[in-house]
Amino acid sequence: MSSYSSFPEFVRALKERNDIVEVIGSYIKLERRGSSNLACCPFHHEKTPSFSVNAVDQYYHCFGCQASGDVIGFVKAYENVDFMQAVQILATRAGMEIPSFDNRDAEEAARKKKYRDRLSSLMRDTARFYLNNLYSGKADAYLEYLTDRGIKPSTMKKFGLGASLDYNGLPSYLLAHGYSAEECTDSGACARTQDGKLIDAEGGRLIIPIINHFDEVIAFGGRVMHPTDRAKYKNTRETMLFNKSKTLFNINLIKKEKRAGAVPNLIMVEGYMDAISLYQAGFPNVVASMGTSLTKDQARLCKRYTDNVLISYDGDFAGQSANLRGLDILRDEGLKVRVVPIYIRNRYVKSNKRNGSPVP
Ligand SMILES: [Zn+2]
Repeated sequence: MSSYSSFPEFVRALKERNDIVEVIGSYIKLERRGSSNLACCPFHHEKTPSFSVNAVDQYYHCFGCQASGDVIGFVKAYENVDFMQAVQILATRAGMEIPSFDNRDAEEAARKKKYRDRLSSLMRDTARFYLNNLYSGKADAYLEYLTDRGIKPSTMKKFGLGASLDYNGLPSYLLAHGYSAEECTDSGACARTQDGKLIDAEGGRLIIPIINHFDEVIAFGGRVMHPTDRAKYKNTRETMLFNKSKTLFNINLIKKEKRAGAVPNLIMVEGYMDAISLYQAGFPNVVASMGTSLTKDQARLCKRYTDNVLISYDGDFAGQSANLRGLDILRDEGLKVRVVPIYIRNRYVKSNKRNGSPVP
């Protein structure tokens, strides 16, 4: 039985248990000055702090970009989540349980969240399964391919690269670990053949986990290992967890960079392998749009971390025109954009060490 008579009452209690200075202080470094706590604003790029957190009235305000709100508003904006997700994050933080008020919407939301968590854990287990395959001694061809592309063992581990060895291994593994067939397909990890057989959706491919900014594995990119008429790369289909147009590959590591300090710019490339190579060459601030067409949501995601984007797509026609469309989408979100020609990028990747900026 809940001790709160209404949802607004619960929200008030939630805010009492989550002091805004402590919560924001756990995301960014706050400096105490008099009665206020100052920081460089996490919502716009700046060098002099104009972001202030008021402990007395429990709100934040940025004098630079006018962002303001309460503790829930901050979590919403910083984590890029909706109101209920922000409430959930703060409830977990304070060890509180969100009560149900016999509200069908709330129950439906709770049921959905529970199922989403279940799929998320399935995807994490799947990533582990692929990872173990890569080092099982049965995936030498995969390791050779990566080595040929210049990817070092430490980089393979950093990105959690893995291998799907066949079509049956993954479904057997997941079913044996208590997941239902429905969960296997709803997560996108498995698919069904025309005659209803459950198979690995990335069967036989080299696996690149796609991880969101909550550090959840939400999808996989898979690269074919043998010449075939199938597409070279195949992503997990769109699911409850994965919306390709709202995700950037490597954003999980960018979030960590941002926590450690300012991110002066992001380098935007098209594919996973380009991103992994650049990362290894000393550019941790690289993200991949996972396709040629950059979306508005992806541009917004960039804007949360930086004001400057260096865009470097492949030199073919599709890549070049994607470059041009991408420029407009990024500029519309108020980002400063420069294009890095592919030959310059490659020079840095080959030199394999950081040497200033990849901009000529
Ligand atoms: Zn601001």
